This record gives sequence, C-alpha cells and structure tokens, in this order.
Amino acid sequence: MAPAVDREGYWGPTTSTLDWCEENYALTQFVAEFWNTVSNLIMIVPPIFGAIQSIRDRLEKRYIAAYLALTVVGMGSWCFHMTLKYEMQLLDELPMIYSCCIFVYCMFECFKTKSSINYHLLFTLVLFSLIVTMIYLKVKEPIFHQVMYGMLVFTLVLRSIYIVTWNFRKRAPPILGVATQFHAWWHILTGLGSYLHILFSLYTRTLYLKYRPKVKFLFGMWPVIMFEPPRKH
Ligand SMILES: [Zn+2]
Repeated sequence: MAPAVDREGYWGPTTSTLDWCEENYALTQFVAEFWNTVSNLIMIVPPIFGAIQSIRDRLEKRYIAAYLALTVVGMGSWCFHMTLKYEMQLLDELPMIYSCCIFVYCMFECFKTKSSINYHLLFTLVLFSLIVTMIYLKVKEPIFHQVMYGMLVFTLVLRSIYIVTWNFRKRAPPILGVATQFHAWWHILTGLGSYLHILFSLYTRTLYLKYRPKVKFLFGMWPVIMFEPPRKH
C-alpha cells in the first residue's frame, strides 16, 4: 500500500501489518515516519515526571504503574513508527492493551480503602491481557487489536461518566468543569487524553483518601496534581 515515492531507509523493508499515510523516510533515512515518531514524546516525557512525583508523594503503586505504562506505550510507538517493523508494532500495540487494563483497575478501585487489592479484578484483567496477546500473536489482524482496545477505552469512558455524574454530585466539584500527519495528532490527542485520564483517576482516588489534591498548571498550561497534607480526623 506504500506509495511509490517512499524511499528505502536504514531499517529496511516494512514488515508491520500497518503503514500510516506519512511518507516513509521523507526527512531522514533513520526515521521511517518522522512526525508519527516525534509526536510520541508527549506520551513519554510527562508520565515519567508523573511517576517520579507519585513516588515522592507515596501514592499507591497502581498509579506509578499507570504513568510508567503510558511511557512504555510511547516508547513502543516511537520504535514502531521509526522502523515500521512488525516486532516494534507489537511493542506499541500490546502495551496499549496492558496500560488500559491498569487504567481500568485504577478507575474501578477508586473508592476502596487504601492499599487494598482486588484480586478478582486483577485476575480478570491479567487473563484478558493474556488472551488478547495470544490471539493477536496468532491472527495478526489490526482490527482485532483495535476492537479490544476500543472495548477497554469504552469501559473507562463509561466508568468516568458514572463517577462524574453520580459519585461526585454530593461530594466535591469534579475537575472537569497537516493533511498526512493525522496519526501524529492521534498520538498527541491520545497521549494527552491518557495523561489527563490518569490525572482524573488519581484526583478521584486521592480525594477519596482525603489527600486534598489540587490541580496546578505548570507554566500556566500543563496540568499536574499536587497534594496538601491529609486532613486530621
Ligand atoms: Zn501510532
């Protein structure tokens, strides 16, 4: 499907089952899809700082895992779009499933006591990840991956709507108050969306645990969550 103008690059012929519409090796022979590669930085860098801050604030490990999982997706996506190799594509697509499972776990455990573990949910999500991984390695059908990923995102959206419209009604105000480069925009928007999703989940969770989370904007634009010391009873 690649257009005839595509050049041969450092990483050799494309072996991935998807090839995006960005012209291959147009800017440099070392990066197949330049904009689809660098746009992943938004998925890599901010979550690293989020994870460091979560460790400093002694938050539950699930939120450190959520941030780092997003970083892993960004790195996998970087490698995939840089090389257009099938193995790198898996490094992008499989962590998308795993990270979403972590987000689902966080969202459904927002209103539990601190450091409790839901083994049933944990088992279900690990099993789901394993089954999706095994099927996808066999069938190599991008549509299958997209449907499975879509299901997880749909679950997250439903849960978020539920939390915003029901649980917070009485508790506290919710925090919600270039033609071929579409896929790069997908990275930026999904990267931003996933990051904001973690913030939303973390805000809900820490508010429940009486941490007094505050949304601050670094440089007046980039949202992060800061904490004031927990309230004494
Ligand atoms: Zn991508």
